Amino acid sequence: MPPQVERILEKLNEKGFEAYAVGGCVRDSLLGRQPKDWDITTSARPEQVKSLFRRTIDTGILHGTVTVMLDGAGYEVTTYRVDGEYADGRHPKQVVFTPDLLEDLKRRDFTINAMAYSHKTGIVDAFGGTKDLDGRLIRCVGNPVERFEEDALRILRAIRFSAQLDFSIEKETCSAVMRIAPNLSKVSKERIQAELTSLLQSGHPEKIKKVYEMGISQYISPAFSQVPWQSFQVPDSLSSEKYVRWGAFLRMAGPDMAVQVLKELKMDLDTISRVRVLAAWADREVKAEAEEVRRAMSRMLPEVWDVLAELNGYGERVRCLTEEIRDRGDCLDLKHLAVNGQDLIAVGIRPGKEMGRALEELLDRVLENPERNQKEVLLEYFLKQNLAGNQEA
Ligand code: ATP
Ligand code: MG
Repeated sequence: MPPQVERILEKLNEKGFEAYAVGGCVRDSLLGRQPKDWDITTSARPEQVKSLFRRTIDTGILHGTVTVMLDGAGYEVTTYRVDGEYADGRHPKQVVFTPDLLEDLKRRDFTINAMAYSHKTGIVDAFGGTKDLDGRLIRCVGNPVERFEEDALRILRAIRFSAQLDFSIEKETCSAVMRIAPNLSKVSKERIQAELTSLLQSGHPEKIKKVYEMGISQYISPAFSQVPWQSFQVPDSLSSEKYVRWGAFLRMAGPDMAVQVLKELKMDLDTISRVRVLAAWADREVKAEAEEVRRAMSRMLPEVWDVLAELNGYGERVRCLTEEIRDRGDCLDLKHLAVNGQDLIAVGIRPGKEMGRALEELLDRVLENPERNQKEVLLEYFLKQNLAGNQEA
């Protein structure tokens, strides 16, 4: 446990409150994994938490969460609570605080996420969380049908955790997933997207296939359910960046469907545009020739090209050519062209469409042969072209 967490627990204990590390950090510690963050649960009310620490942030005061800042990092401290009715299949209607740790643990989604720990008490495991860690099982706390009815997002959380931890989903929890799947259509697309993104960024992204095999995909979005998923796999060499994993998953869908899926899931535009490129190029061959490699590289960001080359299996020779092109600094875009708009205005080109066409034409010449990327060479070519054009006219 980080010393800052110890200090927070001690301070709360000193004032007579109960306090524990809880949820993901307990699970990950027991698994020997590095917890992403440390959440604390306490019998103290938010105002009481705030009064005990110098720097706090009202993160979700209505839900009982105060962030305590220590040594530049934040720790979420949340008052023991019972969640009220889930009216929309997602948000608790009201939050009720409770003095009882067990009540707080009972509202949590899975047994492995429902454990608390303090040095004083040791592990509090009321629902068989350690046993399920041993058995590598995702199992709901309580009745799985009811728990998924309360909050259908938990359906995707179950699959997401099974991908992150490489766990199976326990049988009854599994049946309930399939039975309550239709309720997912009530869950916000942003939340769904966040879970699917975590799943794809996990150590077992191929487990997204479960979403299809378990009959859930149609409740995520119409386009999502159409994605050809059977052949999906992620090469080990690829990073876990968001666009890389979504690109690997959606490339076989083609650019239009890929964009549709991501739009329906309210994905950010930068990710959409990168994935669109990966999907548009998924079936394009690129010969191991400098010019062809330059032309492909000129159509996308450098890092997207590297990912595409990996996904499409362009191989060693294309990789070498890519490196040579970068080492030489071959011009690949208008920004690096040896002439700019001003230069062309000086030789009589009008700004606007004509200018755009002229610059594209020069870039095309330079992609063919990068040695042409010199001002005099390009302008001379241009003047000649223009004369020829005028004579034709
Ligand atoms: P991660 O490492 O991905 O953050 P985590 O277990 O910390 O995993 P969070 O989404 O950060 O997951 O949630 C923190 C804790 O809150 C969970 O461990 C779980 O106890 C509880 N929790 C979160 N979301 C839900 C939910 N939808 N229903 C019930 N309990 C939840
Ligand atoms: Mg967390």
